[in-house]
Amino acid sequence: MNLKLAIQKSGRLYDDSVKLLKECGIDINNNVKNQLKATASNFPIEVFFLRDDDIPQYVEDGVADIGFVGENVIYESQKKVDIVEQLGFGKCRLSFAVSKSENYTGKEFLQGKKIATSYPVLVQKFLDENNIQAEIHVISGSVEIAPGIGLADAICDLVSSGSTLFMNGLTEAEIILQSQSALIKTPELSEEKQAILDKLLFRIQTIKKAKNKKYVLMNAPNEKISQIVNVLPGMKSPTVLPLTIEGWSAIHTVLSESEFWEHIQEIKSIGAEDILVLPIEKMVV
Ligand code: ATP
Ligand code: ZN
Repeated sequence: MNLKLAIQKSGRLYDDSVKLLKECGIDINNNVKNQLKATASNFPIEVFFLRDDDIPQYVEDGVADIGFVGENVIYESQKKVDIVEQLGFGKCRLSFAVSKSENYTGKEFLQGKKIATSYPVLVQKFLDENNIQAEIHVISGSVEIAPGIGLADAICDLVSSGSTLFMNGLTEAEIILQSQSALIKTPELSEEKQAILDKLLFRIQTIKKAKNKKYVLMNAPNEKISQIVNVLPGMKSPTVLPLTIEGWSAIHTVLSESEFWEHIQEIKSIGAEDILVLPIEKMVV
């Protein structure tokens, strides 16, 4: 029995989806670009490669048991699937954008305007919630050129860095959804398949926990240790090991990226030396 997973065939989510499986220790045939599906050699999973827009439908129907897909696509599709876990990649936002020369003062700007988008469901929902009447023009690609050719007064599209908007003379005016890729699941899953999913989820959560964490090592004179340990948040309490030099110890701890930057100068000024920061691959807590 294999769990059937749908991922994007090619595009922005492909590399990170395959990388996540690899980090989970799941080997799928690397040369998969032109294949429809591939079976893992060391985990009961079969991977289907599909267009991202089709993934919610396949998962709702149970043709695929689970899928990795953007939340923007999940909500826009209105399919009955369960969102099980955010995956931390494919981060973007769905935003209104207007021409740089336009004076956008607030949502009211959109009243009576023509809006070009590939996300009519999410845009209509936003308009309804804000009591705005506007005309939606659905276009499937290159939405950002619509204002320039006189097709629309505003667009609503996915933004990450904002460089596409910038290159087209547009400016981001209003965020309506923050999105990232998520693991979705079909509403009906057999017990046996649920057990495989639980195993996969455990691995994904283990990797997610480690992603933002750093293993930090430093040396310090013994009389400074309690002062340093007081500053360090750490997971439980830091490990302190004697060095071969009399009167010195090594302190080992785990910090998030932001905790590290927040405390490092103080720790150094107390007297820590030789501070090393290492990435953590996996973390089971
Ligand atoms: P497909 O051929 O599978 O239909 P696509 O062209 O619809 O591909 P991509 O452009 O590969 O899709 O984007 C896939 C997903 O990546 C988006 O639905 C979104 O969740 C995410 N994403 C992250 N950043 C961006 C961005 N700047 N622009 C568009 N999508 C982004
Ligand atoms: Zn798509």
